[in-house]
Amino acid sequence: MRRFWLLAIAAAGVSTASLARAEAETAEIRIEADMAFLADDARSGREAGSKGYDAAARFAVTRMKAIGLTPADSKNWRQKVRLRAAVRDAAAAKFVLRDGETQSELVHLEDYIIGQNFDPGTFDATAPVVYVGYGVTAPEEGIDDYAGVDASGKFVVLFDGAPPVLKGDKHAYYSSGRVKYATAAARGAIGVIGLQTAADAARIPWARLAAGIGRARMATIGDDGRAEVTAPSIVAGATMSPAGAGKLFAGEKMDFAALQAGEAAGKGAPAGFEFRKTVRLAGASHLSDRKSANVIGIIQGSDPVLKDEVVLLTAHLDHIGLSRSSKPGEDAIHNGALDNASGVAVMLEAARMFQQSGVRPRRSVAFVALTGEEKGLLGSDYLARHPAFGGRRVVSNVNLDMPIATYPFTDVVAFGAERSSLGPVVAAAARSMGVALAQDPIPEENLFIRSDHYSFVQQGIPSVFLVPGWANGGEKAYGDFLKNHYHKPSDDMSLPIDYEALARFADLNYRIARTLADAPTAPTWNSGDFFGMKFAK
Ligand SMILES: [Zn+2]
Repeated sequence: MRRFWLLAIAAAGVSTASLARAEAETAEIRIEADMAFLADDARSGREAGSKGYDAAARFAVTRMKAIGLTPADSKNWRQKVRLRAAVRDAAAAKFVLRDGETQSELVHLEDYIIGQNFDPGTFDATAPVVYVGYGVTAPEEGIDDYAGVDASGKFVVLFDGAPPVLKGDKHAYYSSGRVKYATAAARGAIGVIGLQTAADAARIPWARLAAGIGRARMATIGDDGRAEVTAPSIVAGATMSPAGAGKLFAGEKMDFAALQAGEAAGKGAPAGFEFRKTVRLAGASHLSDRKSANVIGIIQGSDPVLKDEVVLLTAHLDHIGLSRSSKPGEDAIHNGALDNASGVAVMLEAARMFQQSGVRPRRSVAFVALTGEEKGLLGSDYLARHPAFGGRRVVSNVNLDMPIATYPFTDVVAFGAERSSLGPVVAAAARSMGVALAQDPIPEENLFIRSDHYSFVQQGIPSVFLVPGWANGGEKAYGDFLKNHYHKPSDDMSLPIDYEALARFADLNYRIARTLADAPTAPTWNSGDFFGMKFAK
């Protein structure tokens, strides 16, 4: 049918340029149609573990089949990912300060937000308290926030973020909760009490944090049936409001307001000290196990040797589900059109372009619609630790997350490109499309560690993540989206989405993946790159 149609057009004297244009127009329509299905109200916001997510996953399988992809292990399109959801019981939270004979209880959601435990779901611990600055230990930088204090068997109290002397990559890495929890556990702590820096408090109002109390948090479940958390020995936790932190620090060596102000003035967090008080922290979560899945489709490589290597394209399929704070009559469905139905649709279009080319790539190329990104990069972390590509080895990841294509972009930002041999590949692909490559305009947001490619980076795999840039209206578009629509029900198909821009974005990501798949050698980290040195195997 298709060939006949092409011949008919050729016979009618239609030019190649207008054929290319027709092709581009159908790309736009496919992307819009895929997004419309994924972002439909009937998907209920595609929360990992929900029926809406499962329907979206079934759609992804159907689309991959139609494009001509095959399952990675010849029969299963889905990699099962078991999740444990924990929803905190706000009424069970307790935070008691004991100072000699006096005892006082803080008020939940005003003074603090209780943490949670996935195994066994409840905790009740009383322990001494130590303040440990940012809780960062970076021996190669001569930083040890735990110097001079013994955290063993205690609650550690620590600020968000990392010492200001750490810049860029290092700041991003050491700011991550995962690294901090691992450090606290290595020091023998049994709980983590978090303090907001003034900057974070300004960025994320306390009321918004407190409003998230009813939202399920999730962990993957390992083969042993236990929740896979960074630090199982950390049993208890809480996050303090400025008011609660004031009470916690009252009568101690330093006053919280002064501590926070000093931190904000760029002095960093002062050295650790022991508290006079002890703290009792108790909490309970309702646990429920859920089934979810990553959807994986593959194009088998043509080269007899390189086919055992995989260039991996990823886009998270899940979003954040239904709103718990909307009032009756208000829209409660987080459709997630740009976060990340757009990324999935772009990935599927890139897969189609591989097939459309008529030439199989030399390496195998896998396309994965991931679960659990919004729950903390869970699906990608699981996949990175349990590769499911029929024994093939992943050599690179090109991730797609939240391309804000509401304007005709003229530049792109490629997070991670400068760290590896991916840099020149991305630059050449951008050049071939007349698109400029821009520097990260918001390095303080640490975007490199905030999406799914970082799960693969942590397994030593050079990775890149592109977004349309700030030129030609991009800065305004991002500002508007982040302020008014990000993780809100209004991230839906009524946004002024530029499908032509998304089609071009698919083409760009295709060109990058194509080059990686056909290159004689697999990507490598640049020598001396911080993440390469941390994680390369
Ligand atoms: Zn999101």
